[in-house]
Amino acid sequence: MLKFVDIAAKRPDKREAKERRADWGEVYRDFAAERAGEQASRCSQCGVPFCQIHCPVQNNIPDWLMLTAAGRLQEAYEVSSATNNFPEICGRICPQDLLCEGNCVIEKGFDSVTIGAVERYITDTAFENGWVKPASPARERPESIGIIGAGPGGLAAAEMLRRQGYQVHVYDRYDRVGGLLIYGIPNFKLDKKIIQRRAQLLIDGGVKFHLNFEVGRDASLSELRARHEAILIATGAYKSRDIKVPGVGLKNIHMAMDYLTASNRKGLGDTVPRFEDGGLNAEGKNIVVIGGGDTAMDCVRTAIRQNAKSVTCLYRRDRVNMPGSLQEVTHAEEEGVNFAWLSAPEAFVGDSAVEGVRAVHIHLGVADASGRQSPQPIAGSSHTHAADIAIKALGFDPEDLPTLFDAPELDVTRWGTVKVDWNSMMTNLDGVFAAGDIVRGASLVVLAIGDGRDAAAAIHRYIGARAVPLEEAI
Ligand code: FAD
Ligand code: SF4
Ligand code: SF4
Repeated sequence: MLKFVDIAAKRPDKREAKERRADWGEVYRDFAAERAGEQASRCSQCGVPFCQIHCPVQNNIPDWLMLTAAGRLQEAYEVSSATNNFPEICGRICPQDLLCEGNCVIEKGFDSVTIGAVERYITDTAFENGWVKPASPARERPESIGIIGAGPGGLAAAEMLRRQGYQVHVYDRYDRVGGLLIYGIPNFKLDKKIIQRRAQLLIDGGVKFHLNFEVGRDASLSELRARHEAILIATGAYKSRDIKVPGVGLKNIHMAMDYLTASNRKGLGDTVPRFEDGGLNAEGKNIVVIGGGDTAMDCVRTAIRQNAKSVTCLYRRDRVNMPGSLQEVTHAEEEGVNFAWLSAPEAFVGDSAVEGVRAVHIHLGVADASGRQSPQPIAGSSHTHAADIAIKALGFDPEDLPTLFDAPELDVTRWGTVKVDWNSMMTNLDGVFAAGDIVRGASLVVLAIGDGRDAAAAIHRYIGARAVPLEEAI
């Protein structure tokens, strides 16, 4: 260990932008075994590991790095999977620059340990060697748990509860398992086979999925509560934020999720009429994406791979103030996206369909109460970007669950997120828990996984506390 002094930080080989533009494969190739061990050996085995503190699932990073450096990969996998249900997913799509790697102590001057890439390597190797097993319990329990939402939060909880022997039923309105992992995040960040492999493991372990089942349409929350001993709400945040400018009703102005879902469905082999008729297909067109987060980056990079004529990202702040991961911005720049920094949309122009986005230049003024400089339009700076398709990627809010679930008694915050007691993950309704984006607002996969694990532990405690003591039962 401690090799950071002699060995430079190296990620797995990055594919050339030209090659990436032409397919949907991931950006990085797999780590070669010797490279993974070498990179893991750069860790200085801190007594107080800041990487672990800043990992939302508190991964025992120094231990699995040490085991990887020693070539003890099966043990490394066991340690890494003890705190994270889907390490191969987090290793690929966590914003490591903001979390574990950004807080690695050797980051200053030496470049941090490539933690995410090693985590991905450990679990990919575990799958190749058959070390990853379904969560089949040692004994079955009679209690059944209903989970609403098959995204990472719901799936992590499902696995943890199934391991305890519960009868786990997952309801999802989509036709596939995975939530935003399957229909939001594109293949070049996370290959769909990785999610499908996880879904199959859960099925093999006995988790029952009820797909195309929308709570609110096919059952109310109270009906589900009557079916199960406990319920977990993990429905994510899907209400797209909109923009109020003239021309917003023109044809070919889309919400980011509609665009990404169509593209992901195409990649999965589905027939998508709105893609087939060209409405949601960027090929040969000028594309303008409005927004600066990870969703906007996924849209611009999807448009590049659909062979758009030009792709412009319009963002009202500058590069350093983007909310998304800078690594994603760098990938987008390499792949040929044109960034219009400090530009905000003023109007969509066109007759019946959009032909351009009129934007105004922005000056960043004094910081507001949130500490961020407030964007101020510069008078007389209007200009127009040609657009055959405009995509709004302005973030997401939770849907109105009390109305949707026919459950006005369910407490929500003023932002619409479901209120929980953070110690018990329980809502104000007895036996109803919540996790992931529906509690936090649009957030991160690793946080949803952590919440799902916490909620599963809380449900287990709740069921245990309700169990009739043996002496009373006889
Ligand atoms: P979701 O993944 O949203 O899953 C919720 C599930 O609930 C869905 O399957 C939905 O169909 C189902 N559902 C909703 N309502 C109902 C109902 N009434 N009845 C039945 N089922 C219902 N995070 C990262 O860490 N890294 C990234 O690179 C990243 N990229 C992203 C890119 C995009 C385009 C988007 C939109 C998000 C991205 N995120 C990323 C955020 C991340 O995907 C989410 O934080 C995470 O998926 C939240 O997990 P969840 O389980 O709470 O909800
Ligand atoms: Fe880093 Fe995410 Fe892995 Fe934690 S789960 S170690 S934050 S990549
Ligand atoms: Fe190793 Fe960096 Fe974590 Fe320290 S902070 S234990 S050097 S990975």
